[in-house]
Amino acid sequence: MVSKKAAVLAFVGMVLMMAGCSVKSVGKTSGEPQSISVFAMDTYMTLTVYDGEQEKALAEAKAEIERLEGLWSVTDENSEIYRLDNSAGTAQVSDETARLIDAALDMNTMTNGALDISLYPVLAEWGFTNGNYKIPDEKRLSQLLGNVDCRRIKVTGNTVKMPDEMKIDLGSLGKGETGDRVTEIFKENGVGSALLDLGGNIQVIGSKPDGSPWKVGIKDPWGEGSLAKVEVTDCCVITSGGYERYFEGDDGEVYWHILDPETGRPAHSGILSATVIGDRGRLCDGLSTALFVMGEEKAEELWRTVGGFDMILITEDNRLIMTEGLADKVSVYPQYGDIVTEVIEDKT
Ligand code: ADP
Ligand code: MG
Repeated sequence: MVSKKAAVLAFVGMVLMMAGCSVKSVGKTSGEPQSISVFAMDTYMTLTVYDGEQEKALAEAKAEIERLEGLWSVTDENSEIYRLDNSAGTAQVSDETARLIDAALDMNTMTNGALDISLYPVLAEWGFTNGNYKIPDEKRLSQLLGNVDCRRIKVTGNTVKMPDEMKIDLGSLGKGETGDRVTEIFKENGVGSALLDLGGNIQVIGSKPDGSPWKVGIKDPWGEGSLAKVEVTDCCVITSGGYERYFEGDDGEVYWHILDPETGRPAHSGILSATVIGDRGRLCDGLSTALFVMGEEKAEELWRTVGGFDMILITEDNRLIMTEGLADKVSVYPQYGDIVTEVIEDKT
């Protein structure tokens, strides 16, 4: 399945070139890059800034990442999410937590339920929260699913109310929001060129120091390395894929960490990876998870009706589907010439 299927190799390959996610370009910068790595939110994050007040920007970013992790961690007993999950269903939270939950609830509506932060107890049952993987018992699964429905969460100011048995986790969009905060901090410190790699969530500021666009790899979902690259400036490129975290069950099947809230089981929508490209990390992160669940048709419909983002979907049947805004920015590497590239257009 996902890991073993031989990567389809061939020769053709497309050579498409690009302009940028937004037209803004910072031009050349002279500074030497400065980077830091932070382990937070269960992943390695690497931040590289090329100009501005580099040291101050990086120090402030690190402190902010750690502060946000302290608010949203599901395992830290002092976090706001832990307190909410382990309360009788009501808790006071900070502005940033209230806003993030609100955004997650909006995205639940927008995606017709595909993104649901109240899936947490189901994810835990599969062992995706601590690595003790197991295939849940059917009865247990349906019992837990009975408590999944984030529409029952109410956010009023800084008060969050939810049913007693409900537990939430912001893992599907927290890293994107963190990237947005780091971007703000960098800009406040005069940074016009930076690359944020938050465990595979890529967010860039401006263009590369030489004025050219950033080249972001789109991972090969069947194997190692990149299958394509996308050239962007001032943009977020966020991918959700079944290959990121999975286990092989005793039955030989592969089970991955993105679940369909309808079934409580790993989502099998025909998509192996969903990349969302846009201005806000929070939206791109939440949507990448949701599109993976929704599949090609519903993803396309969402793009047409709501829009505000571009996407690249890689399907089980070897297609790479991209929205028209990316047609001149994405190039598939020549050895993946068997991949059929499709551009979807907004006919409305
Ligand atoms: P990652 O964090 O691995 O880069 P994602 O942004 O796609 O990838 O988030 C996946 C995480 O979101 C999972 O590890 C799980 O905690 C949670 N999750 C899985 N399925 C859903 C879903 N349908 N709705 C909301 N959260 C989900
Ligand atoms: Mg996500």
